[in-house]
Amino acid sequence: METVSEYFGSLVFDDRVMKATLSAKVYGSLKKTIDEGTTLDIGVANAVAAAMKDWAISKGATHYTHWFQPLTGITAEKHDSFISPSPDGGVIMEFSGKELIKGEPDASSFPSGGLRATFEARGYTAWDPTSYAFIKGRTLCIPTAFCSYGGEALDKKTPLLRSMGALNKQALRILRLFGNDTAKCVRSSVGPEQEYFLVTQEMYDQRPDLRFTGRTLFGAKPPKGQEMDDHYFGVIKPRVAAFMEELNHELWKLGILAKTEHNEVAPAQHELAPIYTTTNIATDHNQLTMEIMQKTAAKHGLVCLLHEKPFAGVNGSGKHNNWSIATDAGQNLLSPGETPYENAQFLLFLCAVIKAVDDYQDLLRISVATAGNDHRLGANEAPPAVVSIFLGDELNAVLQAIENDTPYEGAKKTQMKLGVNVLPKFNRDTTDRNRTSPFAFTGNKFEFRMLGSSNSIACANIMLNSAVAESLKIYADRLEGAQDFETALHEMIQKTIRDHKHIIFNGNGYDDSWIREATEKRGLLNYRTTPDCMPHLLDKKNVDMLTGHKVFSEAELRSRCDIMLENYCKTVIIEASTMADMAKTQIAPAVEGYAAEVAKSAAAKKALDASLACSYELGVVKKLSALTDRIAGKVEELEDALLFLQKAEDIFAQSAMIRDSVLVKMGELRVACDEAETITAKSWWPYPTYADLLFSVK
Ligand code: ADP
Ligand code: MG
Repeated sequence: METVSEYFGSLVFDDRVMKATLSAKVYGSLKKTIDEGTTLDIGVANAVAAAMKDWAISKGATHYTHWFQPLTGITAEKHDSFISPSPDGGVIMEFSGKELIKGEPDASSFPSGGLRATFEARGYTAWDPTSYAFIKGRTLCIPTAFCSYGGEALDKKTPLLRSMGALNKQALRILRLFGNDTAKCVRSSVGPEQEYFLVTQEMYDQRPDLRFTGRTLFGAKPPKGQEMDDHYFGVIKPRVAAFMEELNHELWKLGILAKTEHNEVAPAQHELAPIYTTTNIATDHNQLTMEIMQKTAAKHGLVCLLHEKPFAGVNGSGKHNNWSIATDAGQNLLSPGETPYENAQFLLFLCAVIKAVDDYQDLLRISVATAGNDHRLGANEAPPAVVSIFLGDELNAVLQAIENDTPYEGAKKTQMKLGVNVLPKFNRDTTDRNRTSPFAFTGNKFEFRMLGSSNSIACANIMLNSAVAESLKIYADRLEGAQDFETALHEMIQKTIRDHKHIIFNGNGYDDSWIREATEKRGLLNYRTTPDCMPHLLDKKNVDMLTGHKVFSEAELRSRCDIMLENYCKTVIIEASTMADMAKTQIAPAVEGYAAEVAKSAAAKKALDASLACSYELGVVKKLSALTDRIAGKVEELEDALLFLQKAEDIFAQSAMIRDSVLVKMGELRVACDEAETITAKSWWPYPTYADLLFSVK
């Protein structure tokens, strides 16, 4: 059998393959494009395309596709075969540099938020050489950006690459100020931890809610949930272990560094974490990981649920975005250094993040806003919708000392003078205790924990990269003109701490008292839902910052805001319709049928002996009858609420109506149906229950 190191990356046109298949000249110029963003000339593109094609064909590929990430949040591909007719009636396999660099899928049905007029509806795709091409099935997949002919981004990759560019530019300015003349570029990196649920295909197939919406819309609480904490890090069941083994194998072939896997808190919940890489590649890899998880599960008779909240009453699934920035030489800029000077630099980057998170709390909240994630943020399992930063006691004490010009009470009592003192080494164990914070410093990186499990990580990283670029720009502008660098630096760090310390919170983020303190005393934002936060994408300060760094144009922001809200509305409307349908055609008839059976049994008993009280039957029939009436009434109210949506004048109004009426009615209908489930005989209930679903995989 092949060992992991033998097959790792075997389906990737990576650096090893490039070196082996390209001439030194072509390789050198491609590498320069990858590392420094220089433009590629067509001669080089032709040579790369030819090598890529030969390599792909040797691996059994017959087709190629420009693989991209439209605003639907999933990936898209349109396959073209390599074949081209030859004069003798046969075919030759062809692939040119032009085809590698640019593609024109007829992709007019992807959401564009009005950016493409119909007469020029065809967007085009452009090769992203910084993310390796790979083979999926029989297709060579070429990671690409997707734009309109006007140049507007229609995807998630384009603004992500732009945000990485903005961060690179500003971070280099700061590094130069600290005397670093050798760094060629600064990149942001991410390791996204991915949570998911596994249920059996057989049970999944029986639930229209899971099939149409990815989550259960009904379901009474099972007698056993997650209260025993016996699933977390527990022994992995054989069927799940087999799934994980194959998943790792598939991911490793694609060069995805899947590293850890374990059971999560909820029954049937698991997690996979990869080793971190650049935000761009990590985004591509995470999309691929989600896709392969679902495909691999299917092979094992399982379904992988990536929804943020597939089950009420047990934890939902998130995605922890572990983010850091490093130079091309590998210096992590969020890691405290060895010398006083390095430490001053570390503190400056740290402050840039603190300022960014505070100034753009709203953008971070917006970047994770979906109908699915709204169920999770603020429930007592996930970070709240209020953004705050956890720094840990040690780092907090250092910042306090700097703020007040007082001695730092660490290992040695020392005055914290920047550029003079060495900071203590913060070890991971002391910094990573708090699991309830939405944005936690964990020793040498920040862990942004608000992302939902199905979110593309692109959006969060676009906002993070851009907001930090903005802080760094402000710092660089000031420091480049300073007479006395060290004094200016000290003052600026001090000012950042004073101005932004209200975003730092080291306590329990799940506590209700925190939400009160955050909003009432500290004035932090608390956008609980997608319709609450999304319109703020267009607030002047946000538009100014994002257009200032050329991450988005104003038109792109408007279109994205529309698309996100449309997405929210469509998601909930599908859920509401599915609920009404299930309640009318399956739940109410089942309850009614069972009530009739009980009534019949009471009548039969009475016929035998008229003096029998049959109070049990009577009680059940009465309760069920009241419940079917209630269910019917709630369905009607829900359908009215849906009809009423047509009156909304725009997408902002419609999303608010969904939040205020449709979701409320859905909740009420659910309560009635879940109550009926607890009284109806199991043999009558039309669906596998929570207990069935959550404990189904052995
Ligand atoms: P946890 O205790 O949160 O599970 P892990 O040590 O398993 O933490 O790391 C979680 C993720 O953080 C992994 O994907 C890992 O690759 C990533 N990570 C570690 N160091 C960095 C870094 N410097 N930058 C970005 N991500 C990192
Ligand atoms: Mg984590």
